Amino acid sequence: MKERERQLEYLSQNHPCFALYKRPNLARIHLPVCPSCNIICKYCIRSINDNDERPGVAKRILSPKQALDIVHKAVKICDNLRVVGIAGPGDTLATDHAIETFRLVKKDFPNLLLCLSTNGLLLEERAEELAQIGLNTLTVTVNGIYPEIVRQICGGIRYQGRRYLEEEAAQILINKQKEGIQKAALLGLIIKVNIVLIPGINDKHIAEVAEAVKSWGAHMINIIPLIPQYQLKDYDAPGCEQLADARKEAEKHIKVFRHCQHCRADAVGIPGISEYRQELYELLEGDD
Ligand code: SF4
Ligand code: SF4
Repeated sequence: MKERERQLEYLSQNHPCFALYKRPNLARIHLPVCPSCNIICKYCIRSINDNDERPGVAKRILSPKQALDIVHKAVKICDNLRVVGIAGPGDTLATDHAIETFRLVKKDFPNLLLCLSTNGLLLEERAEELAQIGLNTLTVTVNGIYPEIVRQICGGIRYQGRRYLEEEAAQILINKQKEGIQKAALLGLIIKVNIVLIPGINDKHIAEVAEAVKSWGAHMINIIPLIPQYQLKDYDAPGCEQLADARKEAEKHIKVFRHCQHCRADAVGIPGISEYRQELYELLEGDD
């Protein structure tokens, strides 16, 4: 078995969000250390609250030091914790907070898997730093590979101090995602691509995205149903059958992850099964 296949097999058994068959009953902790973003996804509402169960939401933003403290507390409460992930609530590479946090966590917990999600705009520029800190798994959201589709999903980007809109923004984002995934793959990272399935925008485009990201070096794809909100509030969420068909189409080109739970940016526990967030943040607040 080739080295890459061996790594994928290992992750499938040890990382609940890279499981290709039955999901292992193992926990992950998301550290909400990233406050800001450099692109505008038309389906994204970032929010600080305790109620919404969806990505982009956290109870509070943690500093890297507070994030390390919470991992120390989490390993005591959650004995099956295997993965430390950073997935927002903003983009993880738009500031230095995620990389700084991972450096601290790696030092104290060399055996936990480190996992980062990004929109990919700055991935090519920061991939070497990610490899150096020992990142194990990377997720990049790629909602399309043609600017006329991506412009309907992404309203604009901020890149190298300038704002870009419409197709120009979409084209830069696609180019940077491609370069970023190619570089991360060359550096040996295991890469999952998330795609938000949006009926009427990219639903006929899934197989092409799957084929393209596979050729760039990604190892699996995770097709996530749209949560209709913000500028895409009038679009329908895909039904179960549509989601299943999209996964079947993608699977002709690349492995498909099927267990995603649409987690918050501060989720703690086994996805969809256990949640330790309240308990942990109460402990942290007791220390503040
Ligand atoms: Fe929201 Fe993530 Fe898109 Fe930024 S990249 S707008 S945080 S979904
Ligand atoms: Fe895993 Fe999906 Fe939750 Fe991310 S959002 S931690 S991929 S289950």
